[in-house]
Amino acid sequence: MKARINEIFYSLSGEGISQGVPTIFIRFAGCSLRCGQTDSKKLWCDTGYALSNSSGDEFSLEEVFEKIEKISNSPTQILLTGGEPLENQKRVFCYELSKMIFQKRHNLNYAYTRIETNGKESILNLDNMVFSLDYKLPGSGMEKFMYKENFHFISKRKNPLDEVKFVVRDEVDFLRASEVIEEFSLNQNLIFSPVYKELPPEVLANWIKEKNIEGAKLSLQLHKQLWGEKKGV
Ligand code: SF4
Repeated sequence: MKARINEIFYSLSGEGISQGVPTIFIRFAGCSLRCGQTDSKKLWCDTGYALSNSSGDEFSLEEVFEKIEKISNSPTQILLTGGEPLENQKRVFCYELSKMIFQKRHNLNYAYTRIETNGKESILNLDNMVFSLDYKLPGSGMEKFMYKENFHFISKRKNPLDEVKFVVRDEVDFLRASEVIEEFSLNQNLIFSPVYKELPPEVLANWIKEKNIEGAKLSLQLHKQLWGEKKGV
């Protein structure tokens, strides 16, 4: 079994509840969404270079695992990201990879692989993973693709390591996120990030303070503060 992977590198997690944790990033190639790209606005995706299904190189499960072990055989978070790691045949690859990681590294912390997924794909029936589940808001132009059944599943799991992420472009987005949170009774690890260079972080911070939603947390992209807009950090 093989999948196309754009890059594998070691850095610190930049966002969410694991922000600042040493992390091995496995970035899968290809994503069918185009966040932020509307009639009048441009794509805001940080990883435009990984959106094509043909970017990167083909790796087998064993080759990816070998790379992970070479980078670190001590406790390190492993993050499957993209592009979108759960699209098409990548889903089975991610499932098998997380199983392999769990079997071979179960005596270490972070035996459960973290996966960042865009909210379009189902997260049901994926063992050995914890989820960073996006919900795309109206400003992204991608809300119509969201698979809301995922919220029922994530709520039932009650896994303290799961998180739901909202990237907020404007107040309409923030209010929509609040509605979705209420509709699905979400109350843990609700991560809010401003669209980079569009929404000033302090504005979002004030909305979060005013609304005071249980479980809400502001997350600014640590990697950009540390290293700027570079690839592979
Ligand atoms: S879902 Fe993620 S990878 Fe795909 S376009 Fe949106 S931000 Fe980029």
